[in-house]
Amino acid sequence: MEASVSQNSDLIVIGGGPAGTSAAITAAREGCRVLLLERGRFPRHKVCGEFVSAESLELLKWLLGDAEQDLLRNSILLSKSRLLLDGRSVRIPVTPPAASIARYDLDLALWNAAQNAGVTALQETSVRGIEGHQPFQVQTTAGDFHGRAVINASGRWSNLSQATPSSNGARWLGLKAHFHGETDPSVDLYFFKDGYCGVQPVRAPNGEVLVNVCALFQTSERTTWEDLFSRHPLLDERAQNWTAAFSPLSTFPVTFRTPQPVSGHVFNAGDAAGFVDPFVGDGIALALRSGNLAARHARSFLSGHSDLKPALRLYESDYRRRLRPVYNVSSLLRKFLLLPRGVRAPFLAACERSPRLAQYLVAATRSRHTEAA
Ligand SMILES: Cc1cc2nc3c(=O)[nH]c(=O)nc-3n(C[C@H](O)[C@H](O)[C@H](O)COP(=O)(O)OP(=O)(O)OC[C@H]3O[C@@H](n4cnc5c(N)ncnc54)[C@H](O)[C@@H]3O)c2cc1C
Repeated sequence: MEASVSQNSDLIVIGGGPAGTSAAITAAREGCRVLLLERGRFPRHKVCGEFVSAESLELLKWLLGDAEQDLLRNSILLSKSRLLLDGRSVRIPVTPPAASIARYDLDLALWNAAQNAGVTALQETSVRGIEGHQPFQVQTTAGDFHGRAVINASGRWSNLSQATPSSNGARWLGLKAHFHGETDPSVDLYFFKDGYCGVQPVRAPNGEVLVNVCALFQTSERTTWEDLFSRHPLLDERAQNWTAAFSPLSTFPVTFRTPQPVSGHVFNAGDAAGFVDPFVGDGIALALRSGNLAARHARSFLSGHSDLKPALRLYESDYRRRLRPVYNVSSLLRKFLLLPRGVRAPFLAACERSPRLAQYLVAATRSRHTEAA
């Protein structure tokens, strides 16, 4: 264990992704002693469409602090989108524009911002378990740490979250890579029978604009990009000129479950609280917002304004009110996409004729009403 790291903190945050860094920065700026633990090492690529919805950009700007604002200045703004489904192309304006930001850069910038905010941040430190409470004993590969409160932001698939593989044999997998090729400034979602593939431009660390291709699909066997592209004729045609900038990354199986913002005496944030279907492009926003929200409720306990139990209960109800509706709407949309083609047709035709209707649906999948800090 590093000699300079205190074993006692006010708050221990597990996971250095968007949710964990958001929680850690928020609490540190409120004067808490925060320890942030991450099992990986930044920078690193991550399977993600890299679409950051407009609704979270103000909060992201605040979290990054003055030293990391280049991240937003270098991002690519996306003001249009297309849904390619059942032979139709539904165009939906993205207003206000969203940002395309590589996770390679986003997660590193947030990690740096956490350190700038005074957080003690340890990489390559994996949490093995959490014992007791008041104080909590967090057992890690770098020894044990004690904290008065714990936020679990370890993502949707960790030894600390409840993800379980689907029992019916169908596995949803994520696959992502960046490609050299054309770079239309639009986020395009190609839907096919067993999933979908998102395509949008993204800036590489060297400044080059690449194409981010990220798919979520059902499979029982190893799938190549060629197999995947061939599932949608327009995608297949478009991909002819692409060459991969790095080898594809894949995810652990994706499962959907009812959000659970609290487990025992621990606050859950981001995907550890609930995983939203990626096609709505709001997972990063939900992670930033729930991390911020969890830290503010933890802070009310840490500053002596409340006991831990009531702070957890208030977080749970705030989460339900502010963030849960996004899960409900995206779950309905997922069910709609699984309906037979004939049932979907009239509705898609209406969206094709009226971008306003489609825009209204997109707005319903956005998390709102969370103050930045
Ligand atoms: C295919 C796909 C496409 C997506 N596309 C988009 C998109 O375009 N836009 C969008 O907004 N969202 C998208 N998402 C969702 C988005 O990636 C997540 O919602 C977001 O990463 C959640 O952030 P998080 O901080 O909760 O979790 P993560 O980003 O997963 O971070 C969790 C961190 O915890 C660490 N960790 C895990 N276990 C431990 C442990 N025991 N000890 C210490 N550290 C640990 C991990 O290493 C990781 O760094 C997509 C998801 C998938 C699967």
